[in-house]
Amino acid sequence: MRSGWYIMGKELENFETLFAAYLGVKYCVGLNSGLDALTLAVRALDIGTGDEVIVPANTYIASILGVTENGATPVLVEPDEYHGLDASKIEAVITPRTKAVLPVHLYGQSCDMKSICAIAEKHGLYVIEDCAQSHGATQNGQLTGTFGTIGCFSFYPTKPLGALGDSGAVVTNNPILADKLRKLRNYGSGVKYVNELEGVNSRLDEVQAALLQVGLKHLEEGNAYRKRIASRYLNEICNPRVQLPETRANCAHVYHIFAVLCPQRDALQQHLLDCGVKTQIHYPIPPHLQQCYARLGYGQGDFPISERYANEELSLPIYVGMPEEDVDQVIAAINSFEG
Ligand SMILES: *Cc1c(COP(=O)(O)O)cnc(C)c1O
Repeated sequence: MRSGWYIMGKELENFETLFAAYLGVKYCVGLNSGLDALTLAVRALDIGTGDEVIVPANTYIASILGVTENGATPVLVEPDEYHGLDASKIEAVITPRTKAVLPVHLYGQSCDMKSICAIAEKHGLYVIEDCAQSHGATQNGQLTGTFGTIGCFSFYPTKPLGALGDSGAVVTNNPILADKLRKLRNYGSGVKYVNELEGVNSRLDEVQAALLQVGLKHLEEGNAYRKRIASRYLNEICNPRVQLPETRANCAHVYHIFAVLCPQRDALQQHLLDCGVKTQIHYPIPPHLQQCYARLGYGQGDFPISERYANEELSLPIYVGMPEEDVDQVIAAINSFEG
């Protein structure tokens, strides 16, 4: 703060270098939010009106807003049993207008990137990864964000790597895209007052960039902390009414969200509340049934798996610093649910 340099300075450069090095990619461009990361990634790839992007039907709304913000059309695909974009359903929806696939590593588990990237390559599609919940998650030892053309991260405070406010970033190995994204975030300008592109103001400020450098040092430790809680839930919750989350073979889940499924979800949530356990739902209304996307013409029953997850999903408490006694309490409360 005493430096008097609050925007586009050393702290941002340092964070970008450190985060790119952590992931093992060439470039990181800090931005204002995860939504901006998605929006600008789509824009940097010149995807717009008349183009289609394949997205999961069970994601947070921001993944789809990044597409529609650019005038492109989201084409929704159902998730697999790990809540990731179902690779086996992608080819059926590819058209001559399809430009990209946008897998979302929902809840902190990698999608089947091996299969998704193979399909994308076969059809000449870009891959834009939504890693807003998956900092540190891997498939076959490879970190999410490093598989596709561009990886999009959010550093919203609750995310596995969080700032003390809004911020996000994109990562890529492509120098042309990195340069374009650097310009897009700063009014489309590389040289001050020379505007090559119609850009936006989406800069990650110095204070957040400095805090994120500290946060990055603790990312692995935080992921391990949540993983220990998740192991306890997986080992000790035994209620036939509650389906526990599964991890794909060769994937490391970072448990941003510990999502269970229960057909009597609302009763379970009330029971837990009566036992002093507050839970959340991620997410109660799937994007295709949101009012803002009525124009896309989807209706109830169009994506039954996503709709079932929206009706049955419950997120158990899981956070860095959560006391063991609280974990005990959650386990006992779930095991005592009788429907
Ligand atoms: C949080 C989140 C975003 C958006 O990130 P913001 O920084 O809040 O804009 C996008 N996609 C997913 C899956 C998220 O969880």
